[in-house]
Amino acid sequence: MTPETRQQIETLLRARHSDRSIHQATGAARTTIARHRKRLGLPAYLTAADSPTCRHGHSFPENRAFYPNGWLYCLACARSRNQTWHATNYTPAQPDEAAIERAAAGDPPARLTPRERHAAITRLDSWQLSAAVIAERVRCSERTVYRARSKEAAA
Ligand SMILES: [Zn+2]
Repeated sequence: MTPETRQQIETLLRARHSDRSIHQATGAARTTIARHRKRLGLPAYLTAADSPTCRHGHSFPENRAFYPNGWLYCLACARSRNQTWHATNYTPAQPDEAAIERAAAGDPPARLTPRERHAAITRLDSWQLSAAVIAERVRCSERTVYRARSKEAAA
């Protein structure tokens, strides 16, 4: 390591930057930076409202936010945590087969989702029923039937 890099690390450490942001700025290993921090007697990095970045190097104050109880958090970190969770846990809502069946039989439940309504209309369409009859069975307007038909034709 060059003396300039060592100097830069010490300067950034004294300016209360996190190990990660120093690593990104200088390219030095995190263990090296931690050793310098220990040698200088600086405490482990804790994110505060006036810190230049969060612990993961996201700049403050753009990413600074507070929970209702007053605790500080980083918006960029929260966003990436949320995206990770979504990528592994999200499943789209599945249409209710029984509701589609009931709607096709002319006894739709009180609430049909648009997807279920569309499925019921498609099913009745395959039986060559007219739009007026389908609309009455599914309890929607004829316009909805035409819309579902053209969507089905486009797909
Ligand atoms: Zn962050």
